[in-house]
Amino acid sequence: MSLPGETLFSEAELQERISALGKQITEHYRDEELTVVGLMNGSLFFMVDLIRHLPYQTQMECWRVSSYQGKESTGSLQGLDAIHGDYSGRHVLIVDDILDTSLTLSKVTEKLLSLNALSVESCVLLSKQRERAVNLTPKWAGFEIEDLFVIGYGLDLDHKYRPLPMIRVLKD
Ligand code: 5GP
Ligand code: MG
Repeated sequence: MSLPGETLFSEAELQERISALGKQITEHYRDEELTVVGLMNGSLFFMVDLIRHLPYQTQMECWRVSSYQGKESTGSLQGLDAIHGDYSGRHVLIVDDILDTSLTLSKVTEKLLSLNALSVESCVLLSKQRERAVNLTPKWAGFEIEDLFVIGYGLDLDHKYRPLPMIRVLKD
């Protein structure tokens, strides 16, 4: 079976970069305890691989939010009413697969601050170079990419292709 699109980052390139991000994040928080909030479904693979490089005390939650339909952002974020966990007084790191318009990260950051998180930072695997809805720069980004539609390693096209071990670009 031929795979859709072309490889942008191989499995080995992803893992090498994730290990480096894990070291930087560990160094940044030092002795502070951290809660990682992974945004499902897209960031599941990334979050699980990243958290293996963080201290054993690190806590983990998953929020199911979504803004995309097909290859386009819908402009609104669903799922914030159904989140759980206690964030009051905690350092929180939001982990997402890809930063596009920034709608997702800005709404999730707002929500965590309203829940009295002590600090809120974000780490994305991929950051698209494009105009953002809100001027938001994640503290950590794995790779800067052009404004292309990518799949694999958790990222989907209409719920498919998440299990691909690499990131691939779909061009139409
Ligand atoms: P934002 O809210 O920043 O516009 O977009 C973030 C979300 O949109 C990501 O968490 C991801 O679910 C989805 N998304 C944005 N760009 C892409 C892309 O190129 N491929 C896939 N599969 N999802 C994307
Ligand atoms: Mg997402």
